[in-house]
Amino acid sequence: MSLTRTTCPYCGVGCGVLTNADGTIKGDPDHPANFGRLCSKGAALGETIDLEGRLLHPTVNGARSDWDTALDLVAGTFSAAIAEHGPDSVAFYASGQLLTEDYYVANKLMKGFIGSANIDTNSRLCMASSVAGHKRAFGTDTVPGTYEDLEQADLVVLVGSNLAWCHPVLYQRIAAAKEARPGLRVVNIDPRRTATSDLADLHLSIAPDGDVALFNGLLAHLAQTGKIDATYTSAHVNGVAEAIASAQTSDLRDTGLTEQELATFFRLWGGTDKVVTVYSQGVNQSKVGTDKVNAILNCHLATGRIGKPGMGPFSATGQPNAMGGREVGGLANMLANHLEIADADHRVAVQNFWQSPTICSRPGLKAVDLFQACADGKIKALWVMSTNPAVSLPDADGVADAIKRVPFVVTSDIMARTDTCDLSQVLLPALGWGEKDGTVTNSERRISRQRAFLPAPGQARADWDIISDVARRMGHGQAFNYNSPRDIFAEYVALDAATSHFPRDLDLSIFADADYAALVPTQWPRNGHRFFADGQFYHADGKAQMVAVTAPKLSKPRFALNTGRNRDQWHTMTRTGKSPRLGAHLAEPYVAIHPDDATDLNVDPGAVIEVESIYGKALLRAMVTDRGAPGHLFAPMHWTRQRTKAGAINSLTAPVVDPVSGQPALKSGPVTARVYRAA
Ligand code: SF4
Repeated sequence: MSLTRTTCPYCGVGCGVLTNADGTIKGDPDHPANFGRLCSKGAALGETIDLEGRLLHPTVNGARSDWDTALDLVAGTFSAAIAEHGPDSVAFYASGQLLTEDYYVANKLMKGFIGSANIDTNSRLCMASSVAGHKRAFGTDTVPGTYEDLEQADLVVLVGSNLAWCHPVLYQRIAAAKEARPGLRVVNIDPRRTATSDLADLHLSIAPDGDVALFNGLLAHLAQTGKIDATYTSAHVNGVAEAIASAQTSDLRDTGLTEQELATFFRLWGGTDKVVTVYSQGVNQSKVGTDKVNAILNCHLATGRIGKPGMGPFSATGQPNAMGGREVGGLANMLANHLEIADADHRVAVQNFWQSPTICSRPGLKAVDLFQACADGKIKALWVMSTNPAVSLPDADGVADAIKRVPFVVTSDIMARTDTCDLSQVLLPALGWGEKDGTVTNSERRISRQRAFLPAPGQARADWDIISDVARRMGHGQAFNYNSPRDIFAEYVALDAATSHFPRDLDLSIFADADYAALVPTQWPRNGHRFFADGQFYHADGKAQMVAVTAPKLSKPRFALNTGRNRDQWHTMTRTGKSPRLGAHLAEPYVAIHPDDATDLNVDPGAVIEVESIYGKALLRAMVTDRGAPGHLFAPMHWTRQRTKAGAINSLTAPVVDPVSGQPALKSGPVTARVYRAA
């Protein structure tokens, strides 16, 4: 049986996969993200494509329905809510699991035809702080680097990133480069000593949210030791003096690191030209996430370590299409092609291109605020697409209650029973991985195809097709007359061309004549192009902006809960949970606790601990380990209420967000802990 060339649906590395309907799974040796490698999750994809638990037909109020009835109800109810309460009374909540074409159509409907920007995405939880930091520093949301830079660097600094578990193939590439070139050094900055730390020459067990103080300290050190590149900054960077002055006020004790550790790191970073600083959720998922991002970018801008091979900041995206969603305006404050809702010229250009009757006039509600608006009774109709906010957002029990307050909830999903499906009046069966066609963009801006190799199960349909059908039933016929994802991709590329007079970083012209069916993985704006190599950025004067950031005052609760992922599970386990071999890695919910704390609480390994915050509580098996510092607890976020009676982790996390990006702080909330049951 011939093999289909497609892309893994899990993390933002975006590995190429060769597969077919008999369950064969191989890494694609020709895909530039992975060159044939796969991690444990990717290798088990063949074990996750059965139909058990799948949603195979529309349902209305729990009863089997048909497409016409369900979609008429959705279109009619959304239209009635808009007519009675205005466009901002409805909302879409989307997902980094959607393909770019799905995202484009959903945004077009909400922003150009309904006239609201109340569409946000679970990617808000994954990379919104990076987006905001890029925009402040560069003038646009531009990831300047590539995976090759990580291999070409002499120093790779991994900040708040357990790459070994969360972006495993990228980790494998760094490990292979280090093996081949022992001069490549790795620093891992993480409160926990993770599997990633095992590769590191230096592990810095930083205090939670100590990153701004650390990178401010680094910037002050660079200034003090004459390492600022004055020639580069005078030509290409604004705000240098202010950022350095602010950095010099940081108290390095807030990092929780010793003077010797700090000196070693500063000397390494300052003394190495080819530095790449990679960061992900430990940086982004913080109430100061955007400031953390800018503290990192400041150091690269101040030294001109950007826009050159083997150097630069690099944000690793969590989801398979977090980047594609960004490109087509998947966030509540953006329009397609990195255009801004806040810019009237951008709005007019997009509206003209879409020939739409309206266009949103102001940014919409970001994820946490969107569900608060549900709780406040302001949202009358909500459509959740391919995600499970009732368990994956912070204060998950509060979010579930908020969803119950919305008079009309639709969920399109591949699964029949999720925590959010159970709260929905209408369920719409969507195509899953292997059944749907479209494109995704990985962390290094490489657009790859997901291709179908399985038939559509039951009555399931593609997300873009479902959304377009609803749009037509709402009276927007001609604008949503797509026959295939190819049509949508072509429109997206044409929108980019039609708005190319705005200075920003997308240039999709290489895709204008591309054969969509045969599309090979391709980076935008064009393979081999290096952003910022010419020192030109996207602020009006062509310069980058260093941002003066101040380290936050940190409180030190008795216990701070850090949440994250296991190596072999993906999000709420709807697919990876089907694979026994993936489940064998870490089979049940746990909380990692330091031996000193275990002694203090009288906890033996295997005991059950009750962890509680002001939002909720969970019962978790104790994993006693010195990989985290005393006072730090770590628990994975995968187990939903349906999978464990013991409580979902996000029942404990607080709906506290970064004020700039709106990204929730999921890494260091105050909790209490006590023995619930002895081992
Ligand atoms: Fe899939 Fe990420 Fe693993 Fe690659 S590294 S196989 S994209 S989960």
